[in-house]
Amino acid sequence: MEVLTFAGGAFLQNTLLVVCEDGRTGLLVDPGAMTAEALAEARARNLRIEAILLTHAHFDHIEGVGLAREETGAPVHLHPLDRVIYDNIAQYALFFGVECEPQPPPDVDLVPGTTLSFGGSEFAVVFTPGHAPGHVMFVAASEPVAIVGDVIFAGSIGRTDLPMGDFDTLMDSIHTQVLALPDETRLFTGHGPDTTVGRERGTNPFLVPVYGGEFA
Ligand SMILES: [Zn+2]
Ligand SMILES: [Zn+2]
Repeated sequence: MEVLTFAGGAFLQNTLLVVCEDGRTGLLVDPGAMTAEALAEARARNLRIEAILLTHAHFDHIEGVGLAREETGAPVHLHPLDRVIYDNIAQYALFFGVECEPQPPPDVDLVPGTTLSFGGSEFAVVFTPGHAPGHVMFVAASEPVAIVGDVIFAGSIGRTDLPMGDFDTLMDSIHTQVLALPDETRLFTGHGPDTTVGRERGTNPFLVPVYGGEFA
């Protein structure tokens, strides 16, 4: 499995292209401003995109859904609790001071506790609310990799000042889900560089007590 990151847009959001174990199947995760570039790479590698997976529905993570769906025909997966954000994307984008077109409706409800299988790769769907009410992360079964969206970043955490965000809920998601993963787990985040559980456990200022963060 390989995870390719395409960062761009006003919020430097990461559109991810996952190349599954079979080398022929691709997944698009959080198609944002760089969706066209990710799709071009998928074409160059002759990948068949089998799913469009959304960690959550903030506009910068879904603004490329329409384009991705049109080109690939792949179904869009979203947790139902983020549907209210998804369906009102134009209004939510205004919180960020930008405009965003409505996107085609999701096709599949993500169900925490289930496993998604594509091209020989498996991902557990893990519920991680706080930054958004229906936020999930995708944890690979066969190797130490997790796609965590805006739950945690290298040296930071997701913001919780947006509608339906909640700081205590986010910290609970980080402690009970993200930090429960092995230290070597590589975390692909919604913004900025990838990191590892161990690095964040040891240095993230929101988690390490010496910086005033909560215990890790
Ligand atoms: Zn977000
Ligand atoms: Zn984001």
